[in-house]
Amino acid sequence: MSRGQSTQRKLKAPRGTFDVLGEESARRSALEARARALLEAAGYERIETPTFEATELFARGVGASTDIVRKEMFTFEDQAGRSLTLRPEGTAPVCRAYLEHGMHKRRQPVKLWYWSSFFRHERAQAGRYRQFWQLGAEAIGAEDPAVDAELIWLLSTLLAQLGVRGLRLRLSSLGSAQSRRAYRERLQAHLRANEASLSEDVRGRIELNPLRAFDSEHPGTRQVMQSAPRLLDELDAHDAEHFARVRELLDLAGVSYELDPTLVRGLDYYTRTVFELTSDALGAQSGVGGGGRYDGLIEQLGGPPTPGMGWAAGVERIMLAGDGEPEQPGHARVQAPAPAPLELFVALAGPRERLRGVAFALLSEARSADLSAQMDLAGRSLKGQLGLADALGARYVAIVEDTPAGGAGWRTTLKDMQGGGQREMATDAVVHAVLRSHHAL
Ligand code: AMP
Repeated sequence: MSRGQSTQRKLKAPRGTFDVLGEESARRSALEARARALLEAAGYERIETPTFEATELFARGVGASTDIVRKEMFTFEDQAGRSLTLRPEGTAPVCRAYLEHGMHKRRQPVKLWYWSSFFRHERAQAGRYRQFWQLGAEAIGAEDPAVDAELIWLLSTLLAQLGVRGLRLRLSSLGSAQSRRAYRERLQAHLRANEASLSEDVRGRIELNPLRAFDSEHPGTRQVMQSAPRLLDELDAHDAEHFARVRELLDLAGVSYELDPTLVRGLDYYTRTVFELTSDALGAQSGVGGGGRYDGLIEQLGGPPTPGMGWAAGVERIMLAGDGEPEQPGHARVQAPAPAPLELFVALAGPRERLRGVAFALLSEARSADLSAQMDLAGRSLKGQLGLADALGARYVAIVEDTPAGGAGWRTTLKDMQGGGQREMATDAVVHAVLRSHHAL
């Protein structure tokens, strides 16, 4: 044997895993810093949960009928015979933490974000790994449509800022658990009536997860699905109204999306709003990120009825689909900044239904200009909103209100919480005024 040669077989990283080295590592850190800057400026706090959890959390939270729970989990027993699972997704652990730490006693919604690795025993291929990283955000404890719109705006803005090419946003609503149950039975009846034309896989899932039939690439199944009943056409009035508000807010914030009534997500817990972002720059695995509302999940985990909404995006997919350069060089804060003090709080003085859209558009505009900005998402009175602005240490508060009786539209007063001054101005002048005052400081 010559010197330096070993008789030992060389070991490799397990299938579907990878090492992060050199240049790649620097790009990932820059991406994380950009995400942190955007999310923390919008009031999301970093959370870290354990890499493994009790298996029961995912069985109950993600749903026993999902592919994830049925065949993709890395499950093992510890020395005491307890069943543990490497986390396959982030929402159930975050909800578990919300309950375990009594976060319902905090100001609602509790807004959290994470950057963590996840584990799924999937067929390894380009863009699909067995250990991968997700960047995620969750807002728990409020059902205001502005929560949905804020989260969707944040992910689509972040991906655009990160240079992800060919982005498409698809949006739908699944309705409440009750309307979904009724719909599910109608869909099952449709599938059973056409069973002979379906793929084996879909046929095997009629009982467990009929919605997944919409995802099938099988020609016969696709044919059958064309005449299948659509959930979006069957929402009850309350859910239809909620979804209309979400769309209106996205329109106001300039987010473009396609309505896709066939959109289903691979996790059982979704209710109402669901969305997915794909990139044309990716091959078969085109999903970059997605999420939705999960108003029943906390209850399913043993907590009180609590609404929630969130998303997750795949870090490796973002890297594959992006040029790695932010949209405008120099615009991105590549250095992770210290948590920014809140620069602008947008308050509503008047009917929420009328003013929410104006306030949300202003909020999104401020965030696009890299200001840290927040608005109330939990239906507080004006007094409550001003208290919240104070608690968050807001430098400026923009109070949007209806014009006096007879007038059309609204007006905005910008209050300087440090200097004490205030000035009435056009809503679209607010961001400029706050930015200008910063330069003066
Ligand atoms: P999901 O939790 O299934 O909704 O996935 C959210 C995002 O995580 C997807 O859009 C992908 O970008 C990413 N993702 C999911 N599974 C994998 C995987 N096995 N490998 C790499 N990225 C993944």
